[in-house]
Amino acid sequence: MSAELTPDLQVEHLSKRYQGAAGEVAVLTDVNLTLRRGDALAIMGPSGSGKSTLLYILGTLDTPSGGSVKVEGRDPFGLPAETLAAFRNRCIGFVFQDHCLLPQCTVLENVLVPTLAADAADPQAEPRARELLRRVGLAERITHFPSELSGGERQRVSICRALINQPRLLLADEPTGNLDRTTAHTIGTLLLEVCRELQTVLITVTHSPELAARFPRRVELVEGRLENR
Ligand code: ADP
Ligand code: MG
Repeated sequence: MSAELTPDLQVEHLSKRYQGAAGEVAVLTDVNLTLRRGDALAIMGPSGSGKSTLLYILGTLDTPSGGSVKVEGRDPFGLPAETLAAFRNRCIGFVFQDHCLLPQCTVLENVLVPTLAADAADPQAEPRARELLRRVGLAERITHFPSELSGGERQRVSICRALINQPRLLLADEPTGNLDRTTAHTIGTLLLEVCRELQTVLITVTHSPELAARFPRRVELVEGRLENR
């Protein structure tokens, strides 16, 4: 398959079972998904349907029980632990419902955190962080601390942090869950815009029908499978 035809994310027959006290729980049974750069997908589904589990596996923070995940044609779960950590740091950006910013670090420092794991300092990291913060309208706030920002501003910082290593995959787990309606709309717009501008694969889990409706592709997780919506 030529590089152009290789999907950036390909998921085939993915399954996930957890061993609980009361026996085995099958959370994902047969998940299939093909996404390319610039694709934006919203995942919906009731609480407990496995949305976070799926996102964590796609982000290589959890392992599948069966099936395959390929990012740029490569199976990340075939990599040794140290290589996998580097791969995750370089290729995958996460945005969570709670921004998870470090309170003792400034906005700029928070955005730079994912660059600290690299073997050698990247001289382009700080200019890139400043440009991302400018892009999301926070140029004037780079020396501020998270406690000095609104919920929407903190979420914009966490989006910049997720994008600092120019990931192929941007994964967001209910990124607007803690925000008021207007702020949620702004964050939704921002995610869709950066997906298009930076040509990432964007996958957003959301409970909000309003946010999901703005995504070109929508699926619902039902009984461990994805159904088109
Ligand atoms: P959602 O994000 O859609 O609300 P989750 O992916 O968090 O759902 O959880 C799906 C199901 O998997 C739930 O029933 C949950 O209890 C179970 N689950 C999630 N993580 C674990 C775990 N580490 N061990 C056992 N069960 C788990
Ligand atoms: Mg969840």
